Amino acid sequence: MTCLSAPSVMADVLSASQVRCFMDCQARWWFKYRLRYQDPVTGKLALGRAVHVALARNFEQKIDTYEDLRTPGVIAIFRDAWAEERERTEFRDDEDATELAACGEILVAKYMDEMAPMIEPAAVEVRVEGKIAGVTVQGWIDLLDVNGRILDLKTAARKPSSIAPEHRFQIATYVQLTPGANGEARIDTLVKTKNPALVSQSFTITEQDVLATRALYPLAQTMMRSERYMPNRLSMMCSRRNCSFWRCCQQEWGGEVPES
Ligand code: SF4
Repeated sequence: MTCLSAPSVMADVLSASQVRCFMDCQARWWFKYRLRYQDPVTGKLALGRAVHVALARNFEQKIDTYEDLRTPGVIAIFRDAWAEERERTEFRDDEDATELAACGEILVAKYMDEMAPMIEPAAVEVRVEGKIAGVTVQGWIDLLDVNGRILDLKTAARKPSSIAPEHRFQIATYVQLTPGANGEARIDTLVKTKNPALVSQSFTITEQDVLATRALYPLAQTMMRSERYMPNRLSMMCSRRNCSFWRCCQQEWGGEVPES
């Protein structure tokens, strides 16, 4: 990989995840979104994707049938999705593909048994795009229910104790871009601990949440276009383990990125 080669686009279309990345480390955003350097999928990410695919397939068909698939059928979809993800995943030294697959099956079964029967989907995996404070923003909604509530599914290593600011920002973005969204939201987190858990958090998007998106999208876009980026070695995600771009970062800005 050549460090700091030709840039691609000029931050014309943003997303909540781009802004989150930029706020965490501008240099990382530069490598990932402007230079488009490869950011290999880890086992953790691959697991989240395969779980998403399996549950999305269930809810897609439920829009027409009003019934969930049987849990073993959804687990079979997970297995297929996992097999595809596995092909393109760079597992870290501490990630065991077989263990992750077993964990994924338990998480899918848990969601199907405990949560899916109460969900009435109106739309699944919807791409949305629109303007927020003059900036074109896009995103993917996991699920919109028949009451206009946005449901977002996450997988995590720890139980969340509150709604993280970046998640409020993400959902506030979706609420503004999704026709029929009523401002209510729920984040369902499947927790990949030894005893897998499901944490469901309901909340309402406030005026302050909307204000944050209207302030930060234009500001982020202006700064992205300035082409002056700071590495954030104080980021919680700044390590050789968590950032694929650490070599380029060291080459450009010196110093030593810690191992973990
Ligand atoms: S190594 Fe750290 S400072 Fe450098 S791009 Fe990655 S997260 Fe940012």
